[in-house]
Amino acid sequence: MPLPPAASFIGLEIGNGSLRGARVNISGRSLAQYAEPMPKMSIEGIVSQLVNAVKAVDGAGPEAAKAVGIAVPGIVARNRVSLCANLSVLDQLPLADELNRRLGRPALLENDANAAALAEAWQGAGRGGRGVLYVSLGVGIGAGIVVDGRVWSGPNGYAGEIGHVHVEADGEPCGCGSRGCLETVAGAPGWVRRAGVGLEKGRRTKLKKDDLSQKTILAAADEGDPLALDVVSETAAALGSTLAAAIGLMNLDRVVLGGPAACTVLFDRVVEETKKRTLPRAFAECTFRLSELSDGAGVLGAARLARIATMFGEPQRATPPGYM
Ligand SMILES: [Zn+2]
Repeated sequence: MPLPPAASFIGLEIGNGSLRGARVNISGRSLAQYAEPMPKMSIEGIVSQLVNAVKAVDGAGPEAAKAVGIAVPGIVARNRVSLCANLSVLDQLPLADELNRRLGRPALLENDANAAALAEAWQGAGRGGRGVLYVSLGVGIGAGIVVDGRVWSGPNGYAGEIGHVHVEADGEPCGCGSRGCLETVAGAPGWVRRAGVGLEKGRRTKLKKDDLSQKTILAAADEGDPLALDVVSETAAALGSTLAAAIGLMNLDRVVLGGPAACTVLFDRVVEETKKRTLPRAFAECTFRLSELSDGAGVLGAARLARIATMFGEPQRATPPGYM
C-alpha cells in the first residue's frame, strides 16, 4: 500500500538514563525532535514518558504519525522485551500492547543495535548493501543484521549478539557466565585491563595508570604508542575472527563499525584481520565502512521500523515473517 506524501513516523530510543525521539517523514527527514532524561522508574512511569514523548513530536490531522517504533537496550522477540539488563522492569511486560492502546496506533519494539543497523542500512554507511552487519563498539559489543532491508533478529531475538561469540580459549570470565567472549577482549573493560597489565610489566607507554579508558587508549594508539597499539591490535584480531565467521556464514556484503570506539586506527586493523581469515572472494565482495549516523541511528531506525510495519501490514509484531 503506497504511503501518502504527508505520512510521518515516530522513532524513540530508550538510552542509558535518557529518552530521545523524532518524527520523520517518509524520506527520513526529521520534522520534530525530543530529548529528555529518563530516570529509572516504574513501568507506568516509563509508559507515561513514552506517551508524552510521542505527543511532543506528533503532527496534527493527516500529519499525525502513523506508527511508533521504540529502540530498547535489550533483547526483543515478538514485539516484547524478553531480556533488558539495564531496565529490568521492561522484561516480559506487554509494553507495545499498552502503547498501542494508549496511542491508538501501532507501536513496535526493537533492540537498539538492530534499530541502529536498520538506520545505517537505510540512510547511512550500509546504503546499497543487501546483507548488512552493523557492529557497535564501546563498553560492550552489540550488533544488528539487516537482510534485504529488514532486521533479521532470529526466532527469539538473539541474532546479532556477537559480543558473546567465543574468541579466546580459557579467556576472561564474561557477564553472560561464559569465558573468552568477544566482549571480554573487545569491550572497553578488556582494553583497560590489558593496558593495566602492560603498565604493571613496565611497558614503554605514555598511558597513565590513573587515566586508563578506551578513549585515552585510542588517543595514544593514534599517536603510535606501542602499548596502546597492542591493545587495539588484540581487539582487531578478536573482531576480525568474529567478522570473518559472520561473513562466511551469511555472505555479508557490508560491515559497518560504529559506537564510541569506531575510528580509523581500529577500523584499518579490523579490516586487515578480517581479510586474513575470510575466503578471498567473499572478502573482496564485502565493503567495510565506519558508521555515518552516530548518535541518531537508534531513533531513525525505530522510525524506519514503524514505517516498514505500516507499509507492509502486520504492524503488531516487530519481527513478523516477511513484514517488509
Ligand atoms: Zn559472554
